[in-house]
Amino acid sequence: MKTIPVFFTPQMVADSRSYSPSAAKPKQVVASWQALGLPLEVHAPAAVSVEQLSLAHDADFVRGVLEGRLQNGFGNRSPEVAASLPFTSGAMCAAARHAWKHGGVAVAPCSGFHHARWEQPAGFCTFNGLMVTAATLRAEGARRIGILDCDHHEGDGTDAIIGHLGASSWVRHFTAGKHFHRPRDAEAFFAWLPGVLDALSDCDVVLYQAGADPHRDDPLGGWLTTRQLHERDEVVFQSLAARAVPVAWNLAGGYQQQPDGSIPKVLEIHDNTLRACAARYVTR
Ligand SMILES: [Zn+2]
Repeated sequence: MKTIPVFFTPQMVADSRSYSPSAAKPKQVVASWQALGLPLEVHAPAAVSVEQLSLAHDADFVRGVLEGRLQNGFGNRSPEVAASLPFTSGAMCAAARHAWKHGGVAVAPCSGFHHARWEQPAGFCTFNGLMVTAATLRAEGARRIGILDCDHHEGDGTDAIIGHLGASSWVRHFTAGKHFHRPRDAEAFFAWLPGVLDALSDCDVVLYQAGADPHRDDPLGGWLTTRQLHERDEVVFQSLAARAVPVAWNLAGGYQQQPDGSIPKVLEIHDNTLRACAARYVTR
């Protein structure tokens, strides 16, 4: 690949009015990436439709959130957040479709997916863009979709939706947050990862959540150092690229904030994921 496709539009960005900086993060992350001088090509993703969201959620829940009658994952009914949600899932969907059709890698700088359940939001997550994407691609002909969730927290909403849909035959889901929590777990994590990547090798596309909150200094984390998070990304990209398994990755959590609200530590982790991605996929 000569360039890395990044699916971003300012319409993905919102002020969540909550503890989590995630809804405002896409713009900051993309600006940070553009300053690295790596060859990116930014595409504006289309919004997903109510019908697409309803492949992974109860349709009344979807409409209720979008129309401001029901709370979002941040515990409010912000119209701004509601307007951003179809684009957040849309970015994941567009990146995954691009990777599936063209091979290699694509990026969706978005978060806020894996705790969202069939008919309720949870933990800063409103709609489960991972499962919306998996269900959309399946409807478009994909046979098997992998989800490698390397956030600090467990992808419990993803599991709940897989259970609701009876989707375990066509979604392979691995969530590190179920198994690893403290710095002493780092070695076990790196022993776990290769087997998981083996198990994903027959997927049409893998959705990789490169969470920043597994960092050991994260207030909600974590078990890895900045260097180990970079190593995590290198192992994932190396393994999937060697097997020619397409991958679409996103950001997930990251809560290390400075007193002024800036997030340089989180941006550094996401910068490193892009560096690992470029090192593996970009050919000059
Ligand atoms: Zn998290």
